[in-house]
Amino acid sequence: MIVSDTIAAISTSMGTSGIGIIKISGPMAIKASLYFFRKKNTSTFDPDNVVSHKMIHGWIVNEDKQTIIDEVLWVCMKKPHSYTGEDVVEIHTHGSHVVLQTILESILSVPDIRLAEPGEFTRRACLNGRMDLTHAEALNEIISAQTSKTLHFTSAHLSGKFRSHITRLRDRIFKCLTKIEATIDFPDDLFDEDLIELSFMPQINQIEQWISSYDQTSIYRDGLRVVIVGRPNVGKSSLLNYLLAKDRAIVSQHPGTTRDVIDAQVNIDNIPITLYDTAGIHQTLDVVEQQGITRAKALITEADLILFIVEADKSLSDDDFYVFQMIEKHKWILCANKIDRVKNIQIDNLPRQWTDPIGISALHGIGIDDLKKSIVNQAIQKDSDLPEPEFMINFRQKKCLENAKNALMQAQIAYNNHLPPDCVVIDIRQALDALGNITGDVYHEQILDDIFSTFCIGK
Ligand code: GDP
Repeated sequence: MIVSDTIAAISTSMGTSGIGIIKISGPMAIKASLYFFRKKNTSTFDPDNVVSHKMIHGWIVNEDKQTIIDEVLWVCMKKPHSYTGEDVVEIHTHGSHVVLQTILESILSVPDIRLAEPGEFTRRACLNGRMDLTHAEALNEIISAQTSKTLHFTSAHLSGKFRSHITRLRDRIFKCLTKIEATIDFPDDLFDEDLIELSFMPQINQIEQWISSYDQTSIYRDGLRVVIVGRPNVGKSSLLNYLLAKDRAIVSQHPGTTRDVIDAQVNIDNIPITLYDTAGIHQTLDVVEQQGITRAKALITEADLILFIVEADKSLSDDDFYVFQMIEKHKWILCANKIDRVKNIQIDNLPRQWTDPIGISALHGIGIDDLKKSIVNQAIQKDSDLPEPEFMINFRQKKCLENAKNALMQAQIAYNNHLPPDCVVIDIRQALDALGNITGDVYHEQILDDIFSTFCIGK
């Protein structure tokens, strides 16, 4: 890939931090950065004789060459041994937004240097063969990983596990394609027995396994929306606070304190969970409360799981049944809160068809571990026969696998029905392309645009 322009961006997150990094990549990277760099004890610094991969201490100065902007570490990584495969320079500054922005603006003032687009460094790395698409996508997912489990599943891509599986699979399919194409080119040289064993079932089965691993692992990436509902004063806000281990929502003995939805993030057993505390649901004429209840209803319809809170020491009231009507068609866990007030759950009118309640105390933390286990059990598909996947595939990769599987199935049908070899070849080529889209061996600009637009600037 030949790129004529040089790109630059701040690669660390905005805000105050110990250090910040500006990254520059392209033919002008070294020359342009040295224009603003002063090495300790030396006034000149020859761009043609810089040593690759060696940190150099110095200062970034203004255009007047006198005023120091910051004390920095400067490092260049000469092509092709760099992240992008081009000449790359990193300037490690102090992590002040003003410093970073000032230095970036200086660099961008040099002709032929422009601000990098989101993911452009990584896009160049892919196009220059420094990494494949599974690796690039994994990097993006690692940056946004919310739990150690997601990190574990995603970082497996960095060692190229999935890519090598896909490459081997493509090779095997390619061999079948060669055989079939030979029957088109040299029909007289081949005996029927050469083709008699042609079956794509092993490949289809393998692809199906990877597709099902998507459902097994997506929970760790996408997380769960868990909505806490119940009539006023049952302890919803107290439960939210206990699960978050901080006072996020106001707790009060007066009903109706939570009138709007409060949401917060928590990890339970490596599952990223968004918890929603909702307004107490009951029949009311209060207009503000009604609005809160309408919002709670909307959230119920979008929830993955509902925690239905009642009180452990009281009979169910009309309001509890009113709440039940709203949630019965969804996935829910019944929590009998305030168990600290009684020895056992004492709800004398609990309908038999309701699930067994879990006794909890949101105030004292009783039963919370059982509740967490129950949330995890509801969330994770219990396909105990399936081993834990080696890696996590994303939605795009799943779609490519589905396309490959469908094309291979079509090829098998065409082959079994003795359709002309050309027809079989078309389907096999489609399958190969779909698998090639996963690694980037086959790509369209649109695929790259879609992938890299989700990256941050500077990656
Ligand atoms: P919400 O209206 O459903 O959000 O209920 P709150 O969390 O505001 O709690 C209402 C009242 O119940 C407050 O006085 C809490 O201190 C109290 N409460 C909440 N959970 C418990 C519990 O587990 N045990 C006891 N004894 N009181 C609780």
